[in-house]
Amino acid sequence: MSRPEADPRIPFPHTDARLACRTNPGWFVHEYGQSSSKADRERIEQARQACRRCPIAADCLKWALANPELTPTGIWAATVSRERKALRRRLQERHGLDWVGVVAAADRAREQARLNRARPPAPDPAPAASAMWARPYEPWREPLTPGRQQRNRELLNQT
Ligand code: SF4
Repeated sequence: MSRPEADPRIPFPHTDARLACRTNPGWFVHEYGQSSSKADRERIEQARQACRRCPIAADCLKWALANPELTPTGIWAATVSRERKALRRRLQERHGLDWVGVVAAADRAREQARLNRARPPAPDPAPAASAMWARPYEPWREPLTPGRQQRNRELLNQT
């Protein structure tokens, strides 16, 4: 049986950080309805703690919720399957059946707003040019700095 495809609208976050789920995958094993021993509970708590410190936990959770077929078991972003089901139900109630599409569109809008904020507004060349030509040439109005004073002296000595 082929592995289901990930929903491309919510990509898995990129990070160069060492993720506990990759270095210690055994901690993150959890079957639906698994009756757990004390050792299991401790291991699961260890995984949850690691997720809480993970730099991509928020995006990992979003990806796990958007891809139920890829995350039917295991611990993802400190959640077990039952908790993810409950979160998906709430997302569906709030945003409708295509909640993944709604969340992805909101992500795109946020990213676009961030890019717009980062980009300085493009100068309008026409007003800048006309302002330059409209300004009269009045070098005397420029501050007489020590450098300018020195240059003036040199010019006087040349004449
Ligand atoms: S939050 Fe996600 S990526 Fe981070 S350690 Fe947990 S399962 Fe791995």
